[in-house]
Amino acid sequence: MQIQENVPLKNHSTMRLGGTVRYFAEITQRSEIEEAVTWAVEHQAPPLMIGGGSNIIWRDEGFEGLLLVNKIMGYEEFAEDDFNTYITVGAGENWDSVVERSVKAKLSGIEALSLIPGTAGATPIQNVGAYGQEIANTLVSIEAYDLHTRQFVTIPAADCAFGYRTSRFKTTDRDRFFIMSITLHLIKQNPLPPFYRALGEYLSTHHKGETYTPAEIRDAVIDIRSHKLPDPAKVANNGSFFANPVISAQLLPQLQADYPDIPHWPTDDPAFIKIPAAWLIEQAGFKNKHDKETGMATWKTQPLVLVNEKANTTADLLKFRDKITAAVAEKFYITLQQEPELLP
Ligand SMILES: Cc1cc2nc3c(=O)[nH]c(=O)nc-3n(C[C@H](O)[C@H](O)[C@H](O)COP(=O)(O)OP(=O)(O)OC[C@H]3O[C@@H](n4cnc5c(N)ncnc54)[C@H](O)[C@@H]3O)c2cc1C
Repeated sequence: MQIQENVPLKNHSTMRLGGTVRYFAEITQRSEIEEAVTWAVEHQAPPLMIGGGSNIIWRDEGFEGLLLVNKIMGYEEFAEDDFNTYITVGAGENWDSVVERSVKAKLSGIEALSLIPGTAGATPIQNVGAYGQEIANTLVSIEAYDLHTRQFVTIPAADCAFGYRTSRFKTTDRDRFFIMSITLHLIKQNPLPPFYRALGEYLSTHHKGETYTPAEIRDAVIDIRSHKLPDPAKVANNGSFFANPVISAQLLPQLQADYPDIPHWPTDDPAFIKIPAAWLIEQAGFKNKHDKETGMATWKTQPLVLVNEKANTTADLLKFRDKITAAVAEKFYITLQQEPELLP
């Protein structure tokens, strides 16, 4: 393990903004973790682990700690029988390569999570989800290093407190566990309809035949996503910048009085409904908005995605964010919640 000093953080966020980190190291093997944590304690530099930086924003002030980028690789497949297969994947593996590999093996369970940027180890943090699947559906367990006990632990999925874009790793146990690997349960069976609405609509016009292989679902998701979302390798962004707000169902008639066409979906709890944040942002006047003052913009085909066109600082991004949240709050009395994490 090699420790570098004063490394620019913008290279570790797909939004490409932020100050510098005091200490920096890549972790390529499980055994390096204890060494890194001991070093961090000795140097009074709080350790923080990240993957591909696709869901984080760094403060302009930087980070006076030890940033560890997880690069632990590995992909092991264990077929229990003709139907059930388990895969254990190193946390530093590129997530989409994991999906590609499992789909090639004709395994189903994560094909709708195609093209989500970042690493396998980060998927449990916010319970990544897309097109009707989320990692909680297939996750069996996580292997992690517990910073409280300084031991490696295995955490079963049932103990992860998964919810919509959340888990215990984002809430009660934030910064406690460094994830080393994840184990998923996949099945050798074609995915069955009904599919998530946008995916079902796409398949109804693009798909011939009555069955759907995991590879066909992956291709469909890749096609939909590539038309809707910017590639973070080319355009600086963090994907959806806001979560879809969940509001009391009792508020709906009031909103409908002014906006009869307001889109909304039910949630698991009938007392609450979900409103698409993209619609609120568009209605608040931020469709394909290019803000000269901050150098930030909303993406032309998806206003939920904020893109860094010419911003120089995280302060610029946060100013643009505040313009959007204020406009939405003023018009709809709804507070948008930010999805990417502002660190440290
Ligand atoms: C264009 C685009 C589209 C996106 N689409 C989706 C989507 O459809 N659905 C969705 O859910 N998300 C989406 N995202 C968000 C993002 O891709 C996911 O949250 C992804 O899991 C982040 O992975 P990462 O490796 O980049 O994590 P990072 O951004 O590096 O880290 C995210 C968080 O996880 C923690 N972390 C990362 N690795 C570890 C580890 N090994 N151990 C402990 N903590 C760790 C970090 O400390 C941080 O808190 C999108 C992002 C972009 C840019």
